Amino acid sequence: MKPVDCPCGGASPKRRASDKPPRYDDCCARFIEGRAYPSNAMELMCSRYTAYVIGDMPYLCATWAKQTCPLDLDASADADTRWLGLDIKRHTVIDDDREEVEFVARYKVDGHAHRLHEASRFTRDMNRHWIYIDGEIKNK
Ligand SMILES: [Zn+2]
Repeated sequence: MKPVDCPCGGASPKRRASDKPPRYDDCCARFIEGRAYPSNAMELMCSRYTAYVIGDMPYLCATWAKQTCPLDLDASADADTRWLGLDIKRHTVIDDDREEVEFVARYKVDGHAHRLHEASRFTRDMNRHWIYIDGEIKNK
């Protein structure tokens, strides 16, 4: 089932709370449906968050470095998680092949609200497309 508004909300450090969310078709759908590739780590971050929301595990696997992608990645494990929103705090370009994105994702499990605050590392694969490597949790 396709969302109308993009679950990522058009997250970016420049986004203001009053900004209207972009339409899914104009935002992350391009990447998740394979019509385009994210041009930077922040776009990839948004599309991966959206993939979690809509439960698109193949997209998560395809955009995850082979060395760090969990073999048991499975949507059913997250079935109780309800994602509430994404804020991007920082997008740092380190060099041509390395970028970092610091974000806060809000979610609920069994009615309890949680925040995941992570600084994620991204690189490019052999086709020069951005992929996720791993992240440092900021609020453990
Ligand atoms: Zn989006």
